[in-house]
Amino acid sequence: LQNSQNAQIDGNTLAAKSLSLFGATHMFGVVGIPVTSLANRAVQLGVRFIAFHNEQSAGYAASAYGYLTGKSGILLTVSGPGCVHGLAGLSNGMINTWPIVMISGSCDQKDFGRGDFQELDQVEAVKPFSKFAVKAKDITEVPKCVAQVLERAVSGRPGGCYLDLPTDVLHQTISVSEAEKLLKEAESAKETVTQGGIVNSDIDKAVSLLKEAKKPLIVFGKGAAYARAEGELKKLVESTGIPFLPTPMGKGLLPDTHPLAATAARSLAIGQCDVALVVGARLNWLLHFGEPPKWSKDVKFVLVDVCKEEIELRKPHLGLVGDAKKVLEMINKEIKDEPFCLGKNHPWVEAIWKKTKDNVLKMEVQLVKDVVPFNFMTPMRIIRDAILGVGSPAPILVSEGANTMDVGRAVLVQTEPRCRLDAGTWGTMGVGLGYCIAAAIACPERLVVAVEGDSGFGFSAVEVETLVRYQLPVVVIVFNNGGVYGGDRRNPEEIAGPFKDDPAPTSFVPGAAYHKLMEAFGGKGYLVGTPDELKSALSESFAARKPALINVIIEPYAGAESGRMQHKN
Ligand code: ADP
Repeated sequence: LQNSQNAQIDGNTLAAKSLSLFGATHMFGVVGIPVTSLANRAVQLGVRFIAFHNEQSAGYAASAYGYLTGKSGILLTVSGPGCVHGLAGLSNGMINTWPIVMISGSCDQKDFGRGDFQELDQVEAVKPFSKFAVKAKDITEVPKCVAQVLERAVSGRPGGCYLDLPTDVLHQTISVSEAEKLLKEAESAKETVTQGGIVNSDIDKAVSLLKEAKKPLIVFGKGAAYARAEGELKKLVESTGIPFLPTPMGKGLLPDTHPLAATAARSLAIGQCDVALVVGARLNWLLHFGEPPKWSKDVKFVLVDVCKEEIELRKPHLGLVGDAKKVLEMINKEIKDEPFCLGKNHPWVEAIWKKTKDNVLKMEVQLVKDVVPFNFMTPMRIIRDAILGVGSPAPILVSEGANTMDVGRAVLVQTEPRCRLDAGTWGTMGVGLGYCIAAAIACPERLVVAVEGDSGFGFSAVEVETLVRYQLPVVVIVFNNGGVYGGDRRNPEEIAGPFKDDPAPTSFVPGAAYHKLMEAFGGKGYLVGTPDELKSALSESFAARKPALINVIIEPYAGAESGRMQHKN
């Protein structure tokens, strides 16, 4: 802001000033009409702007940034089509319950309805994908609106918020002194939302249920990871000796190698447990809706979730509405007064331990074989060992693709919290590069390793340029089997009609040189087809901590169509 009495400030500067004052440190997006000045002003004020090629990837990045940092991830887009592309990231954040704020420029208010440049009723368009959407109709509303979206995205159940900034508002001016007054007012009006009042008697009930259970299980998900509940979970698991099962993104809150981990005995654990304490994870498709035949029909669920509606939807035996870390603290405190522990000779603990050992051994038999041309298992084992070799801080693993993600989830070992980002609740493919960029920006101390199918990678492949431009320590490993699920899997009788000679809908160019795409921008590319080539590429690229792409050629028929979701296709 300029100091002279008559100095004026425009909407772009006021929006940037508001963002910076209310805690924004990073933004992801694509600039253009009418938000370029907003981005430039924000950078001037110390907000880092990560410029993408496409709003979809930038939006995925903003959502993952929100998850990893617990602050609103901010996505900046142009009007109309920019906003529409950005919906991918906004909705992904919303569904995953990650805090994201999308800020879009929009057309001139006086020209709306007359076919203005990039005209769209953006507030209406975003409503199904956000929990709060607001338009600043006048420059004087900008500070208050910025404060509202940043606050609301992280309050209660985290999710997506939207701020609409019309072109005329961005160009409107007011005096500096008025702007300062508005900024102060907006700051002091910040809403503080208090989360669920946890009732002590419910904590007692939860503890009694766990204590009396014959086969208790603790399940935790990315809501617990978001809440940074790892310390409390460790205390609970280790003081009670109760086995635990993480959801895919809950993995790493406690290490996969922990003696009470039931990951490799998942079917037994959920099929037989009689009381399940589920922390920050929804009983949705990923957990088979908490229903038979995967779960026992008599299981008693104790759900811990920050969202009251979520608990009401699932109708558990007992629901505890509140922040996962706080609820677990209360549970631990209650247990401390009257401790109990199953011990490793308890029949339930022993059964899970034995099953885990058997299944791990069975998988290891598959994994040790060096199969060339590569199947999924051989390169995954080599990648697992290379990632484990990095030690602490552990790399952040980004994973997508049907077979690549399924096999990776079973084989790759997570040892630290919030170090896994995958297709998530929506099974969103195409998130990979955006997530890599967010992870490298949010956690600069960590290496980022993406293990992606070639189709997942292709959604946003050109963002490898973004990796190079910002020199991010990201190694992208592409499992290249030449298509979606790899190979042409049609039966001969399905190949008919006037376009029967076209490539199959599942096929891409075989042997595509994805590594050259990385090289085109000045990053390091590797083409590998044997265990030794892969090991050498991994050790060189992990040590360099510079953008690299390893193109791993996989046998096209090695995977299964739809991975483990065949029943849905
Ligand atoms: P997963 O995919 O790991 O199973 P979900 O995304 O289905 O996890 O569930 C995460 C749940 O965590 C959501 O229902 C969300 O409301 C909840 N949640 C988010 N933040 C918190 C928090 N701080 N404490 C408790 N629960 C939370």
